[in-house]
Amino acid sequence: MRMGWLGAAAGLAAVGAVVAARRIFNAPDDNADGAIPNRSGANGFTPREGLDPTLLEILACPDDKQPVIYQREGDAERLTCTSCGKRYPVRDGIPVMLIDEATVGPLPTESDVAAAHAVRPEGKPAIVGSSA
Ligand SMILES: [Zn+2]
Repeated sequence: MRMGWLGAAAGLAAVGAVVAARRIFNAPDDNADGAIPNRSGANGFTPREGLDPTLLEILACPDDKQPVIYQREGDAERLTCTSCGKRYPVRDGIPVMLIDEATVGPLPTESDVAAAHAVRPEGKPAIVGSSA
């Protein structure tokens, strides 16, 4: 079955693309202290919680270049600018850092920022732009 074989090959290629995307947005935790247990499942994927700190480190509000904090309300995830309050959606783990896609909410309060600091999924910081 030639077509069947081609279909299987195309399927494998698609899986490879997904794996590559997950490696970018869900890099394995390689903390040197080893305190964070490796929770990778049998399939080798670590369940995504929060955003990868490496990714967060390079993200800033595209409008004013200020730090953003990761926030979650139920299933909705977003990055909220700590300066102007714009809220950027996170879709399937991918931040959509477009001003046109942003909604404007109230500025994060100090307790919001503190909460973002406190939420460290699997030991990962949930806020960037801070030297803490
Ligand atoms: Zn902003």
